[in-house]
Amino acid sequence: MLQQVWGYPAFRGPQEGIVRHVIAGGSGLVLMPTGGGKSLCYQVPALCRPGLAVVVSPLIALMQDQVAALQQLGVAAAALHSGLEPAAAKATWRQVQAGSLDLLYVSPERLLGGDLLAQLASLPAPEPLALFAIDEAHCVSQWGHDFRPEYIQLGVLAERFPAVPRLALTATADPRTRAEIIERLRLEEGQVFLASFDRPNIRYLLRAKEQPGRQLQAFLAEHRGEAGIVYARSRSRVDQLARELQAAGFDAVAYHAGLGAEQRSAALQRFRNEAAVVVVATIAFGMGIDKPDVRFVAHVDLPKSLEAYYQETGRAGRDGLPAVAWMLHGAGDIPQLRRFIDDSAAPEEQKRIEHGKLEALIAYSEAAGCRRQVLLRHFGEALAEPCGNCDGCLEPQALADLTVPAQKLLSAVVRTGQRFGGAHLVDVLLGGDTEKIRQFGHRELSVHGIGRELDRSQWRTLVRQLSSLRYLVPVPDGKGGLQLGPQELVRPLLRGETVLELPLPPPQKESRRRSSSGSDRSQELVEDAANGELLQALKSWRREQARAQGVPPYVVFHDRTLVELAARRPRDRAALGGISGIGAAKLERYGEGLLAVLLGQET
Ligand code: ADP
Ligand code: ZN
Repeated sequence: MLQQVWGYPAFRGPQEGIVRHVIAGGSGLVLMPTGGGKSLCYQVPALCRPGLAVVVSPLIALMQDQVAALQQLGVAAAALHSGLEPAAAKATWRQVQAGSLDLLYVSPERLLGGDLLAQLASLPAPEPLALFAIDEAHCVSQWGHDFRPEYIQLGVLAERFPAVPRLALTATADPRTRAEIIERLRLEEGQVFLASFDRPNIRYLLRAKEQPGRQLQAFLAEHRGEAGIVYARSRSRVDQLARELQAAGFDAVAYHAGLGAEQRSAALQRFRNEAAVVVVATIAFGMGIDKPDVRFVAHVDLPKSLEAYYQETGRAGRDGLPAVAWMLHGAGDIPQLRRFIDDSAAPEEQKRIEHGKLEALIAYSEAAGCRRQVLLRHFGEALAEPCGNCDGCLEPQALADLTVPAQKLLSAVVRTGQRFGGAHLVDVLLGGDTEKIRQFGHRELSVHGIGRELDRSQWRTLVRQLSSLRYLVPVPDGKGGLQLGPQELVRPLLRGETVLELPLPPPQKESRRRSSSGSDRSQELVEDAANGELLQALKSWRREQARAQGVPPYVVFHDRTLVELAARRPRDRAALGGISGIGAAKLERYGEGLLAVLLGQET
């Protein structure tokens, strides 16, 4: 079924075990990262088992994409949701009754409100239902940020359809959410399938935040012609960044909850249908996106937890091709994030959990060495070797003995009265002559100009490191000043009893993008084909096909398939069928057209 319908040569990770389990009538919970391939886990059994598969999905846009993609594969799929005209809904329901549909996508409201459940229960045929799939199953969790009250009622499926397998799927792996899903969806008897949460094609690059606007533009300049998402914390910042990027000639659009529905849907539409749009967004731009060829996700502000970071960066590179998760981190973000949590209306226990999650993110961003090892460890997975595809691995920083600079910095904090922020402290250490230094007479201090062994960005790093290690803590008035941390920590350092070894970035300037050491096959394919006119020709052919049918280009073919076509240049139908992503229906439908492009390029 996988080869015939999807044209894929093999299952990935735990897919095969899951598919066999469900075909045999088993229920369960699938925990797999974004882009891991959850959909196939229920779509293949849906075609192998008799009867209709009902897929519960929380978002209309996602449903529509999935249905369009399945129809392209020649699968009989449809969706029922609130956005549908009554006539269209009736027609779909008639298909269900006639037994001519393989998959029906429904919103939870639609499934549980009204009499759909009763109707499903009274379908004729000996085995009318193949399975229930519950996508984005973490929406049952009251602790999560995607909570959907209707999801809780999905527990009734266990009672009403005890003989029908139920498969819940999510990319949220933390044990608490997992337990909640199992309990609420009554999956105690089912099996849990846990895939690795590693996303090896994503390159994690973190940078110290200095001049976010400028740094972002330098990063985007390396990614011209690619689609990506830039996350920023507030609406005003999103608007401002989008304007700056537009002025700098980038095809950027803003997206946040403060914009009108029309503006938002236009932004989403452009992002889905065009090749190289950059969306600048708050986290409001999230769950509805399963565009497979997002090449980068950039964070100009720290997200609120390591889980959020993982989920947001996970939107890059779902197609398995190389992608980048780039983040600016600065100590300045941290007090604000702490305040957000403290000021929220959540119960104390919840606040403690959130603080813990934020600390995990800070530790990740300050870690020396391999980022991926830290990230995966947080999700309970061990990665034995450094990954070779993150800034920690690609740009190793030697540990330096920073005891003396740290002492100088702490002295500067004390001498200036424990009330100034990092920027001013660094000015003092570097012997600056700013307005503020003159105003406060800081040129007269003994610490003025004693820190010329490090440059500005290195000092800023040290400020951040000492903050994350709690040698420096924010002044409680919340104005961004720093004071000394707890005595028992600070004293030994000032006396020279503690030796501080920390990674120190090389002086100034952004390092250039380097190619991966262990570049995989797909990376080579991309590079071979990247400049090829053939790939461009295939893409413009795809654009035409997509436009004619009113679907996003990736629904016709994924980049991955086009890249493979350009690299292998199949010359007949048989060879075409051997390309990953070309199943029987697509061969039938697009074979001629593809061959025309492929052969046309040769002459
Ligand atoms: P998820 O829902 O877990 O985020 P998807 O189900 O959307 O992931 O799958 C991500 C991408 O990987 C899709 O483009 C899908 O077609 C592709 N994919 C999934 N399984 C396989 C496989 N066995 N071989 C090739 N491609 C696959
Ligand atoms: Zn690494």
